[in-house]
Amino acid sequence: MIENVVEFFKNLPPKQCAQCGEKIEEQHECYGNTCEKCNTI
Ligand SMILES: [Zn+2]
Repeated sequence: MIENVVEFFKNLPPKQCAQCGEKIEEQHECYGNTCEKCNTI
């Protein structure tokens, strides 16, 4: 059962920045749909 969950997350598409389209790596907090660069104000 646990292996199925892992496979489920593996099949998920990589998180992408909605602004520049760059792949967003794993982060401690959720910044929404933008990468760290685009999120920086
Ligand atoms: Zn971005």
